[in-house]
Amino acid sequence: MMPDEKKPIPWGLPPLRSEILKEREARDVVKVSEENQNETLQPVYYYPEPMEHYTHDGPKGYTPLDSHSGGTRNRTRVAALSIGTAMVLGTLFYVGMVCLCPSHEVSCADTIAAVDKLIQGGLNSSNTVAWERLAEMTDLYGNRMTSSKAYDLSADWVVRTANEQDSNLTAYTEPVWVNQWNRNSESLHLFVPTRPQGKVELKMLGLGNSVATPNGGVEANVIPVHSFEELAQLGNSTIAGNIVMFNFPFTGYGHTTMFRVRGAREAEKYGALAVLVRTLSPDSSFDSVHTGSSQRAGIPAASISLADANYIERMYKRAKAGKSADHVAPRVRLVMNAQLHENFKQSANVIIDLKGSERPEEIVLLSGHFDSWDVGVGAMDDGAGAFLAWEAARMIAKLERAPRRTIRVVMWNNEETLQRGAHAYFEKHKNEISNHTFAIESDSGVFDPWGLVLAADQTLVDKLKGYGAHLFGDLGGGNIASSDVDSTGEDIEILCKHGVPCGGFLSINPENGAAPGEPNWENHYFRFHHANSDRIEVIDKHQLRRSAASLATWAYLIADQ
Ligand SMILES: [Zn+2]
Repeated sequence: MMPDEKKPIPWGLPPLRSEILKEREARDVVKVSEENQNETLQPVYYYPEPMEHYTHDGPKGYTPLDSHSGGTRNRTRVAALSIGTAMVLGTLFYVGMVCLCPSHEVSCADTIAAVDKLIQGGLNSSNTVAWERLAEMTDLYGNRMTSSKAYDLSADWVVRTANEQDSNLTAYTEPVWVNQWNRNSESLHLFVPTRPQGKVELKMLGLGNSVATPNGGVEANVIPVHSFEELAQLGNSTIAGNIVMFNFPFTGYGHTTMFRVRGAREAEKYGALAVLVRTLSPDSSFDSVHTGSSQRAGIPAASISLADANYIERMYKRAKAGKSADHVAPRVRLVMNAQLHENFKQSANVIIDLKGSERPEEIVLLSGHFDSWDVGVGAMDDGAGAFLAWEAARMIAKLERAPRRTIRVVMWNNEETLQRGAHAYFEKHKNEISNHTFAIESDSGVFDPWGLVLAADQTLVDKLKGYGAHLFGDLGGGNIASSDVDSTGEDIEILCKHGVPCGGFLSINPENGAAPGEPNWENHYFRFHHANSDRIEVIDKHQLRRSAASLATWAYLIADQ
């Protein structure tokens, strides 16, 4: 028995966790009782199908992640709180402490002292470095679409800044071949004869990977559709020669993504000339337009706002009722000059290492993706996730003693389209995958910290639950939930599938305090996701620091074991 095992628990349960427990008990959603202590909440998420035209020659036995075809993958994100575990947290904590410091050179007291400094650092409001850096980089170079010059300039800026300003950190890049999709000029006009100009210019964004329209654009009537089943029922007789508009309310990203991802391919089966997809965002952002990747089809695809989708639908219904000559059927002209170039250029992942003090070859990987869409500046998606990892490493690098294992920050390239940054990293390091002790990704917005969803064996999950419940205190971020591999992070998925324990680092919704898995948890994030409003103002400097300290705490605990 180590003397530290008798050390009193420094903090009680984090307030957030106890509030969640109380609230859930009150709502009778999950009762804290012997009978259902293993009960979990299991919302279902749908994710975009990766593009099919990317082929990958991986090692024998390795299934390329891009080899799927057909329907959208149905991934279950188990945002689970094993409520019953709360009753045995004390026991786990002490069990955890026994396992925490197997090294003869590092005592538990050393680890706890280091972690305590990280937590205190997170509560120190004078540190706004991560936010200032993110603001400066996005002000200087703008968004970071994969393959863009701005991406490379931003990557150089991070490497330069880390090497010049952050003692003990070493920054460099590793090559990644990327595709290029350029939207070029695009426009959408709705013909409304009663308006003085006879038409209205609608806000629109072509969907990533879309083909262009024919020269001069495509002009046709618009048929509102609300499901793929309805599309099939309407069939060729109604759809052929027209433009399909998917007008489906945002009921969560997972439930709504399929129209953006598969809409064009489904509609072209029935002879549609193009598709318009109502933007994937909560109702309150009714006038904004959000882009995102789509499966490349033979017809073009564009996103329009909720307000314009409803406008077109009202026109359609009035025209069908036929009560006035003013009530014409909705007709639009869509012009898109998008171009796709495969294997366009060599770009890079950005990597920042803090060398481990005892086992430098073993790696705890912290990550976010560095590429963004070509709208806004990508401050939230996923600049904040990438800089969160960087700031966590910087906080750890300032401690007197580096953890036993190496902390590696990876800012992935090409997440938004083909995840080639993740594949390039895997290829380059495939003989060292077993040296990766743990991998974490943040790509759901960085607000106040909630904790980790883990795809790891139960022993590790239980151990981290013990730490989470007792170490994080007012800082927050100590929650742990079990998950499946697919839900931890798009870029680390390939590592997880090759045996690396993985975690997704998640935040609390700053609007309503909802935790992952609770109603409307994702709404705040999706107000700004892939939109022009993804600016630095979405990110709060103090929330970013607190999350970085929380992530740093997890990283240190894992890397120092
Ligand atoms: Zn993202």
